[in-house]
Amino acid sequence: MDNSKFYTSTAWRKLRARKLANDPLCTHCQKKGIITLGSDIDHVLSIAKRPDLKLDYDNLQTLCKSCHSIKTSSENKRPTEVNKLNDWLKTLLK
Ligand SMILES: [Zn+2]
Repeated sequence: MDNSKFYTSTAWRKLRARKLANDPLCTHCQKKGIITLGSDIDHVLSIAKRPDLKLDYDNLQTLCKSCHSIKTSSENKRPTEVNKLNDWLKTLLK
């Protein structure tokens, strides 16, 4: 089952709804002392890394849109500091 099918599956929708009902606030914002209503349910260990945990309630966390996009982009790209360094190097080589 690919991920797009997974995210529309009944099992995932039910699990997601349960998590959001139990933890309605963004976990990352809470760590920073900010209260933000979450909108996304994120896999702490991504499905790519741990496909066996994709329906594990304990592997879920509530995130707001902005925290989720930060997490997703940091998983898909190299760390921000490395990107900054690369950009800086590119400007030197121009
Ligand atoms: Zn947040």
